[in-house]
Amino acid sequence: MRIGILALQGAFIEHEKILTRIGVETVEVRLPQHLEGLDGLIIPGGESTTIGKVAQRWGLLEPLQAFATSGRPVWGTCAGMILLANEVVDGVPGQPLLGAMDIAVRRNAFGRQVDSFEADLEIPALGEPPFHAVFIRAPLIERVGQEVEILARLETELSPVTVAGENGTQEDRTVVAVRQGNLLATAFHPELTEDNRFHRYFMGMATGAHQRSH
Ligand code: GLN
Repeated sequence: MRIGILALQGAFIEHEKILTRIGVETVEVRLPQHLEGLDGLIIPGGESTTIGKVAQRWGLLEPLQAFATSGRPVWGTCAGMILLANEVVDGVPGQPLLGAMDIAVRRNAFGRQVDSFEADLEIPALGEPPFHAVFIRAPLIERVGQEVEILARLETELSPVTVAGENGTQEDRTVVAVRQGNLLATAFHPELTEDNRFHRYFMGMATGAHQRSH
């Protein structure tokens, strides 16, 4: 199994280290041809506007979109999650996105006073114990489409919680990890902890896709 890691900007080396530790071969992706022969791709955290603009300049946006629709797994962490989304709330106008997942995300959702924080999340897909999640200028998922499965919610005093929406509805502002078929997105940074369960979960997705295509 060979997993590509988009290496334009941000925390790509940390993902490489975890995958290497669990015995997975990695490839740094900077050009379209680096996507050839990969079994999956990680889009790391960093600055989503920078990653998007550099990807555009290097002709990577369309190849990345094609990769995401090919059925092979793609995992976006933090800025990577923003890039996968089809809607960004309060984003920079014209920010390049892959638009692969049916989610709306709010950039820097936690405001300046809690730029960064950590929280233990109950994630049924990973089992016990709770997953220690590191949030850094994190986005939040504010809308999920029908095909999207919610993997984790943030339920602490730090979450911007449920707010009143239009027509008396309640908007849920606690979703921090989702899956839509072959696509995975986390608002936090599993590559910054010693817990490799999220990387193993992603490798499970990659193994399934690999077996289906061979
Ligand atoms: N705030 C960053 C953005 O909007 C994401 C931060 C991160 O990836 N840690 O792109």
